[in-house]
Formats: sequence, structure tokens, C-alpha cells
Amino acid sequence: MLDEKTVKTIREWIGRAKKIAILTHTNPDGDAIGSSLALAMALNKRGMETRVVIPDGLPDFLRWLPGIELSTTFIYKKEKAIEIIENAELIFCLDFNDPRRLSGVEEHLTRSGAKKILIDHHQDPASFTDCSISQTWRGSVGEMVYLFLKDVFHEDMLDKEIATCLYVAIMTDTGNFNYASSYPEIFHIVGDLMKYEIEKDNIYASVYDAFSEDRMRLKGYCMADKLVVLPKYHTAYISVTDEELKRFNHRKGDTEGFVNIPFSIKGIRFTALFVEKKDLIRVSFRSRGSFPVNQVAADHFNGGGHANAAGGDSLLPMEETLKHFESLLPEYGRLLSDK
Ligand code: 5GP
Ligand code: MN
Repeated sequence: MLDEKTVKTIREWIGRAKKIAILTHTNPDGDAIGSSLALAMALNKRGMETRVVIPDGLPDFLRWLPGIELSTTFIYKKEKAIEIIENAELIFCLDFNDPRRLSGVEEHLTRSGAKKILIDHHQDPASFTDCSISQTWRGSVGEMVYLFLKDVFHEDMLDKEIATCLYVAIMTDTGNFNYASSYPEIFHIVGDLMKYEIEKDNIYASVYDAFSEDRMRLKGYCMADKLVVLPKYHTAYISVTDEELKRFNHRKGDTEGFVNIPFSIKGIRFTALFVEKKDLIRVSFRSRGSFPVNQVAADHFNGGGHANAAGGDSLLPMEETLKHFESLLPEYGRLLSDK
């Protein structure tokens, strides 16, 4: 993955650093947390004191991950998180392409004089690090951390715990190998991870079969009452208000994955999920095929992302946001009807 010169530089930086910080994005997912913990555990094995700083809350389905004790959540333990960043002589930025995705952590990264390395797979990475490892075609940063460890260290850095975290990263960012995974190398990597005796089926159950009854009922309600299908545009969306979330005793992460639900309907190529938050509507987009949802997110919802998975925000109330969204579809009609 890396050329010789980059490997040499990174080895020097790692060799000089006694303390290392790993930062990942707000609203962290399995790839963000899995790849960060894997890298942290590997660097700790080499004697560097490495900690992970997460800007905000960790979803419940990731709390069981090995190495989770190496993470600090900025919004709950500000002083400790700042201390980790301030003391770090090397900072890794994992799974985000723009420091704005760090929320309040951004200013502490900017202030730090440490060397900074980006490992990421999002489109158009901003230039905010000394070394940028960006491979936008990869399904996950988990794969990139696997390859990074192979390139940078001579000996085998993996063990069962690290392999488990990397597998969670790869599995979750590809929807259990449902998308963003149609190339041989990803399966070679997974095949190698299996050699460390990771418990593949238990990992799946820990991540995907670990929701509450409330979440199941919220999902059922969304499918029955809140799904809007627009066959003309091969589009379907779901919206959830704050009142509805409260009615189903919503917990953080409960609407995760809902954006993919409408793909089960034949012919759907573009899906959206609108979730009402305190003072904005959080928007998620997904597409199948060539329709670039990051363009919709960037042009109309102050966001961005990948061609097939993107997100943004709306400051309009829910009803108006949905009207606005529907009014955009004719503009994209041609792209949506092309395969
Ligand atoms: P999600 O729908 O899961 O929140 O986000 C899907 C993907 O879209 C994320 O992996 C991220 O790359 C991108 N994304 C989500 N929200 C934003 C945003 O507000 N700004 C940008 N630039 N990208 C976003
Ligand atoms: Mn990712």
C-alpha cells in the first residue's frame, strides 16, 4: 500500500514517538472504532503508549470490542482527551477526510505540533496532515490499517484481538460484505484474519443481533408507517421525528442501518433517512449503482461522503425538508433512471 519513502518516514516518526494519539470521527461507526482500536493495540504492543480519542458517544454494539479501554470519549472526559492529544508526539487520523468531522476535538488537533498521519477512504481528503494515506476505492479503513501494519513493521503485528477489531471494521463498512467489497484483496485480507482464530459468527451476532425490543418495534413502525416510495425516481425514504423516537424509547444508534431498508424493494436505487435531532434534521443517503449521493448531500444538505453513501444536515423543519428533498428528484431524474 505504501511506497518505500513513506514507509521510511513513518518508521522514523513512530520510532521517535513515546506517546501516540488516534482520532476518529463523530458518531463513530464500526470502521472508525475497529480500525482505531486495532492500530492502538498494535502500537501498544511495540511499546508506544497509544490512546484513542472519540469525539462523542460510542454505540452500544461496539462496547464489547477488545481494546475498548484504550478509548476516551471527548464529550464525557474532556480533560483526559485533551491531555492525550496534547501529549502525543504522533497523531493518527482515521476514517475521516476533514477535521470538521471531529466536532470539538478539531481545535486540539490543529493546535498540536505533533506529526499527523491520515489513513482514510473518503473522497477528496482535506490537507490537514503531514502524511495522507487515502484510498477512496477501499471498503474500509480496517483494510488499510491491516496493510499499514504489514508495510511498516517487519514482524507480524496481528493477534486474535487485533484481528477481531479489523474484522469488525471491514464487516460493518461493507454491510457484512454486501457492498464496497467486490475485489479480491478484501477477501485475502479477511482470509488472513481468520488465521488468528477470530470468532466470525459470534462477531456478527455481537454487532447485528444485539438490539433492543424498542429498536425492533421502531424499525417495524418505520417500515409500516413512515416509508415513502417514489417508483418514478427509483427512490424511497424514511423520516423519523423526535416525538417518534421518544415514543420508542430511542437510544443512540437505534436508527443505524435504517437507510438501507428500502433497498429490499425491487427497483430502488436511491434511499434517504431523515432523523430529527435537537436543532437540525440529520440526513443519510445511500445508492446502488452509479448515482452519486455525495453530490446531492454536498449540493443541497451541507454534507458529503462517498458516491454510494453520504450524509448531511437540514436546518428546515421535517415537513419542509421532505418537500425540499422530493422537489430535487426531477433534477436527478435522468441519473436515477440510467443504470
Ligand atoms: P451516514 O449516513 O452513515 O451518517 O454517513 C455515510 C457517509 O457519509 C459517512 O461515512 C461519511 O463519509 C459521509 N458523511 C456523513 N455525513 C457527512 C457530513 O455531514 N459531511 C460530509 N462531508 N460527509 C458526511
Ligand atoms: Mn469507514
